[in-house]
Amino acid sequence: MVNNCINNILDRLFQAHCPLCDAPSDGQLCQGCHQDIPLNHYCCTCCALPLPDQQNGLCGHCLSTNPSIDHSLIPFRYAEPLDHLIGQFKFASNLPLGRLLSQLWLAHVDSTPDRPEFLIPVPLHATRLRERGYNQALELAKLLGRQFDIPIDQYSCERIIDNPPQAGLKKQQRKKNIRGAFSLRHPIEARHIALVDDVVTTGSTVTELARLLKRSGIERVDVWALARTP
Ligand SMILES: [Zn+2]
Ligand SMILES: [Zn+2]
Repeated sequence: MVNNCINNILDRLFQAHCPLCDAPSDGQLCQGCHQDIPLNHYCCTCCALPLPDQQNGLCGHCLSTNPSIDHSLIPFRYAEPLDHLIGQFKFASNLPLGRLLSQLWLAHVDSTPDRPEFLIPVPLHATRLRERGYNQALELAKLLGRQFDIPIDQYSCERIIDNPPQAGLKKQQRKKNIRGAFSLRHPIEARHIALVDDVVTTGSTVTELARLLKRSGIERVDVWALARTP
């Protein structure tokens, strides 16, 4: 009885578990949870907005405007159970989850991406960075950059306004809220870069940063992120 108990405790301590359902696994998602991750198969090629099934191409917004973002690779939709994993990674200092999330990204991005010259993680304001202790976008960029051997530029862009959180704001409010939030410390010597973030909600944040980079002379700005909100 006591032995069983001790064995159970040792099992829990030393056997890796699925981070979602706690089933024994090698630390990866178990097969059932992996199948539950919502894919963003049909989406706008420019901003990755989910589109009705069987549709690809551009969304109405990208068709009717001149979007600053050229191409997005966002393989998942921000919904259960992925939102839980991203929340743990972003707000609960569960940094090992970044590795799992980047592996999921790599496994679900269909083709080898067009190679940007730099990955630029969406910067946090210094105050937010101090509170959180890390920038989840930088952690993701490091893992993806290592995989593709692409350098990271984490210093050229900075967030100069500590906007209130975007959550809960409508698209127009978000656009207004983020305007002028970023600045370039110095120009980036590149033609093609990719912005890296965890979740793209309305796209206001990455669009604002892409506009700034395009104005500075960068010709192509892509977005690499984990999940897109429908
Ligand atoms: Zn599971
Ligand atoms: Zn679009």
